[in-house]
Order: sequence, then structure tokens, then C-alpha cells
Amino acid sequence: MANEFDVIVIGAGIAGISAAIYLKRSSLSFLLLDKGMVGGKLNYIHKIDNYPGFSSIAGIELSLSLQRQMKQLNIESTYGEVNKIEKKDNIFQVRTDSDTYKCKATILASGSSEQRLGIKGEKEFFGKGVSYCATCDGPFFKNKEVAVYGYKDFAFEDALYLSSICRRVYFILPKKSKASEAHYNEVIKKENIQLIQGYKLKEIKGEQFVSSILISNEKEEKEIHVSAIFPLFEQISSIQFLSSLKVNNCNGFVLIDSSNSTNVPGLFACGDVVNKKVKQLVNAASEGAIAAISAINYVRSFK
Ligand SMILES: Cc1cc2nc3c(=O)[nH]c(=O)nc-3n(C[C@H](O)[C@H](O)[C@H](O)COP(=O)(O)OP(=O)(O)OC[C@H]3O[C@@H](n4cnc5c(N)ncnc54)[C@H](O)[C@@H]3O)c2cc1C
Repeated sequence: MANEFDVIVIGAGIAGISAAIYLKRSSLSFLLLDKGMVGGKLNYIHKIDNYPGFSSIAGIELSLSLQRQMKQLNIESTYGEVNKIEKKDNIFQVRTDSDTYKCKATILASGSSEQRLGIKGEKEFFGKGVSYCATCDGPFFKNKEVAVYGYKDFAFEDALYLSSICRRVYFILPKKSKASEAHYNEVIKKENIQLIQGYKLKEIKGEQFVSSILISNEKEEKEIHVSAIFPLFEQISSIQFLSSLKVNNCNGFVLIDSSNSTNVPGLFACGDVVNKKVKQLVNAASEGAIAAISAINYVRSFK
């Protein structure tokens, strides 16, 4: 049947592509679905300095390289936004805006997205000084003055990390800190971190790249000259389409075991959609491979 597959992979970011490469090596039929651009987040990363095999590569280059590899292996990606997945008699029914597919196993590789602020300059300067990933982009601002915007533990962790690379870190807290006491105390001890509490980020300014930010409270507005701003709020994972499966998750991030299996038999997950601390390309690719191998073994157990 045209719309029936052994495995369906949802998301063609690096995790989903890696899963597809491993699936291609088996004799199983599979479908790789994505609602956007093949390569996912990779397409928006300015520069990657920590992926094995490349001392430095633009995200779009790595994405194109993966697409060339897919072409060589005869792997296609099909457009479709998955909006519902159901399971009946060991068969998954995957619905997109235009089609319904059936499969024995599903690999969830739908990634996550950053919480955007929706303020002036945020979209224009994304990748030009606006970054949602200090681990990834911090080193590009070595010895520069940068700002962090957030109030939870991970914003504190990243402010500390940036303070080890950057000359000065302006840490703007829109509300009272929700970080642990240990993190808070560590941050206030750092000489090159300046805490600015109770201010909201209003605008990001610059010409070609970020040159300053505007912050304000009820009383005043301030302009701070920085080369980068890191708004560090929660990542969002939207797995609403899985609701009927009752997948164990933590705020939308899926819980898996060491074989990348979820609590739903036949449903595997990999990459940024997984509940984990380190969200990087290298482990997304690795998890894609593990999820594919687990899915292959699962499907074969029925044959
Ligand atoms: C600015 C930035 C810089 C970064 N820099 C680095 C770096 O230097 N080094 C590093 O190792 N990591 C870096 N990262 C992290 C890295 O990009 C991610 O860990 C990795 O890309 C995750 O891959 P993924 O395949 O899990 O998800 P994604 O790349 O997010 O792919 C998920 C795919 O699923 C699709 N999708 C989502 N929902 C649906 C649906 N309902 N139906 C169909 N398709 C769907 C999306 O369209 C997308 O293509 C950076 C991240 C950011 C944001």
C-alpha cells in the first residue's frame, strides 16, 4: 500500500536524518516527514565549531551536506505537518494536514523550538548577535560584552559560562530569580557579571549586527551596548499530536530509556524532543541511529 510503511520518522532535522540513514541500511520501508526545511535547526545556525569532522562549518553547509548524502542514498523527505498520531492493533496511524499514513513503528524527531520574545530586532538580528544557545554561540563573542536575559537556572548557568569567555556579561532579570541559591551566589560573586534586576528587554538594536539593547522598567529606559544578547527561557516542545498515546513526558519533552524507546511500544524518540540536559547536534545524530536500530528490531520482532 502506498501509504503504509514499516517505520515513519517525524522530523528531518539531524536526528531524523540520522535515523533515516540507518533505516535505509535495513530492508524496511520508511517515510521521513517534515513540515519545514530538511535539516531543521541546522539551517539557522550561523557557525558550528564543535561537530566532529569539521573544525568549523556553517549550519546551512552541514545541512546541505546531509541533503547530498540523502540524495546519494536515495532517501527522500516528504512534506507534511503531523497533527495526530493514534495507535490501534499495533499499527500507528499518522495524520498530516493532507494525508494519513500507517506504520508499525514511529520515530519522533520533531525537535524543539526556542521561546521567542516577539520584540523589535529579535527576528532581524537572529544569528547576527541574537542567540538562544550560549553553549553554541558564546565562543563567537570571546572578549566581547554580551547580555543574558532570563531568570531561571539555565540562564544563570549560561551567564556563568559566558563570563568565562566574554569580557562582561550584563545579566538582565525580568523578574525575581528562580535559580537555586548556589547558582545565584556564584553569579553575584563574578566580577564580570553585572546583574540588572526588574528590567524587561524592549528592543534589540544594530546595523548589520547587534550593537545595543534597550531595557526598561516602570521608571526608566536604558540602552546597553553589547555585541550579543542571549534570551534564555524554556525550550518549547509541541507534542500535542501525540496526546491520544499518553506518552510519558516532562513539559512536552519525551522520556526515553537507553534504547530510545518511549513508554508506548513501537514509539521511539531522538534529538531535541527528548527530555535531556545536553541538546547538541552530536547527541541528536547519535540518538537518531539508536532510535532507528531499536525501531528496526521492534518491527522485525513482528515478522
Ligand atoms: C542558534 C542555535 C545554535 C546552535 N549551535 C549548535 C552548535 O554549534 N553545536 C551543536 O552541537 N548544537 C547546536 N545547537 C543545537 C542543535 O541545533 C540541536 O541540538 C539539533 O539541531 C537538534 O536536532 P533535531 O533533529 O533533534 O531537531 P531539529 O533540528 O529542531 O529538527 C526537528 C524537525 O522536525 C520538524 N517538525 C517538528 N514538528 C513537526 C511536525 N508536527 N510534523 C512534521 N515535522 C515536524 C521540524 O520542522 C524540524 O525540521 C544550536 C541550536 C541553536 C538554536
